[in-house]
Amino acid sequence: MTALEANHTEQTSAGYGLEVKHLSALYGNYRAVKDINVSVAPRKITAFIGPSGCGKSTVLRCLNRMHEVIQGATVEGQVLLNGENIYDPHADPVTIRRRIGMVFQKPNPFPSMSIYDNVIAGYKLNNGRLSKQRADEIVEKSLRSVALWDEVKMKLKKSGVDLSGGQQQRLCIARAIAVEPDIVLMDEPCSALDPIATQRIEELMRNIVNDYTIIIVTHNMQQATRVSDYTGFFNIRKDDNTRWGELVEFGATEQVFNAPANQETADYISGRFG
Ligand code: ADP
Repeated sequence: MTALEANHTEQTSAGYGLEVKHLSALYGNYRAVKDINVSVAPRKITAFIGPSGCGKSTVLRCLNRMHEVIQGATVEGQVLLNGENIYDPHADPVTIRRRIGMVFQKPNPFPSMSIYDNVIAGYKLNNGRLSKQRADEIVEKSLRSVALWDEVKMKLKKSGVDLSGGQQQRLCIARAIAVEPDIVLMDEPCSALDPIATQRIEELMRNIVNDYTIIIVTHNMQQATRVSDYTGFFNIRKDDNTRWGELVEFGATEQVFNAPANQETADYISGRFG
């Protein structure tokens, strides 16, 4: 058992956050984001906002070692989960991605799988065989957490892609939390959804944050103010040769939106930007 796995079994009810230290993300030689330092609070919702191209999604992917999956993409700096650097040479990316799950912009249920099998897919991958009774329990608990159980309990064997877009996204969140991660990363999870489906996702985020630390990238500032406890504002820096993203301001959402410490933040949230 690795240190990361051992720590997971000793998890306390307080949950885990993340410490990001001097993080830079590169695509080949291109340094897309530089020197990000941030402390993500456990069992809270943290939103990353900022103009398109400032590196929000790139940083998010660095937080569970998804960035390096892109060819030529590398990371510098540290991301600490309960004090353990997820970029330690001994850290196992598969274990890390189980502990730090991800939900994407476009709902992506596995098309050939039923609703039931979608929910349990990640769990089976990580834990191998499990009894029918245990699988049933995990599926029901996960679907209840995302308020989807009552809508799908009569059609669990139907394909996940037969659901509406909002239901599919809740199914993907159920799949992400079925493995009981410490942290759930969400990359613009509502951008493909209508306002009612968006509202349901926001409600479920508030409901599950007692059990999971959530980091959400959103281009929607109202969404950040509605759901998040903390907000990080990223912006684009430029010199003669290149451009890159930096974290300009980080703080309690109320403070960032009502009394931003940085003029750039104030300009962006008041719509004076660009
Ligand atoms: P945001 O999420 O804030 O819109 P991104 O993280 O998508 O920003 O992009 C940050 C920078 O990294 C941009 O300059 C973008 O062009 C670049 N970038 C993103 N993905 C790739 C990629 N796969 N290859 C090369 N450059 C990329």
